[in-house]
Amino acid sequence: MPEHKPNASNFITLQCPTCGAGLQVAGEKNQFACDHCGNRYLLDRKLEDLDVAEREHLEPNVTYTHQIQQWLRVAEYEVFLHSISVETVKKERVLYIDVAYRNQSAMALKCRHDQWIVFDKEGYTYEPVKDYNFPELYEGNAKRYLGLTRIITPGMRLRGWLGFLVPPSTTLEYLQFSGGTPAKTVEFELQLKWS
Ligand SMILES: [Zn+2]
Repeated sequence: MPEHKPNASNFITLQCPTCGAGLQVAGEKNQFACDHCGNRYLLDRKLEDLDVAEREHLEPNVTYTHQIQQWLRVAEYEVFLHSISVETVKKERVLYIDVAYRNQSAMALKCRHDQWIVFDKEGYTYEPVKDYNFPELYEGNAKRYLGLTRIITPGMRLRGWLGFLVPPSTTLEYLQFSGGTPAKTVEFELQLKWS
C-alpha cells in the first residue's frame, strides 16, 4: 500500500512578489503563478525550505510576465517597462523599450544597458544599440537614450529608451532583464502582435 501523504496540510500562505495578492501554494513547489496579476515565478528552493523572512520577501530566480507597466523586483533591482513597440527607422526594424529603474535598497545600484536582451525563437539574442552607433534611433527619433552605465543611489530613479535592431524575418520570443549576483531575471513574453 503506497504511503499516503496528505498535501492539503502543507499549503503556504504568501504574497505575490509583484502585486501583493495573497496566495496559497503547496510547500513542495518551487514555482507558482499568481491568479491576480498572472505573473509566474521560479524559486531556487521549495517554498517549504524557505524560512519565514525569506517567504515574506521572496526573491524569485525568474519572473515570467506577459504584462508591462508594473514594478518588478529582480534581486536588488526594481524595474518598470513603460512601453514596447516596433518601428521602422532608416529601413531597419527596431524594437523599442522605454524602461525605468528605482532604487529602494540601501546601496548604490549599477544600471547597464546590456541588462536588457531580446531573444528570438531560435535562441539568438539582440542587445541594445548604443546611441553613438546609430544616433537616429534615439535623439533623432525623440527618444532619450538610457545610457551605457549609470549609478543610482538609494531613492533615485532612472528612465530611458533602448532600441534593438531585429531582422524582419525574426520571431521574437522574450525580452530579458537580469541583475544581481548570482543573476536573477525577469522574462517579458513577446508573443504579441508585432507589425
Ligand atoms: Zn500577482
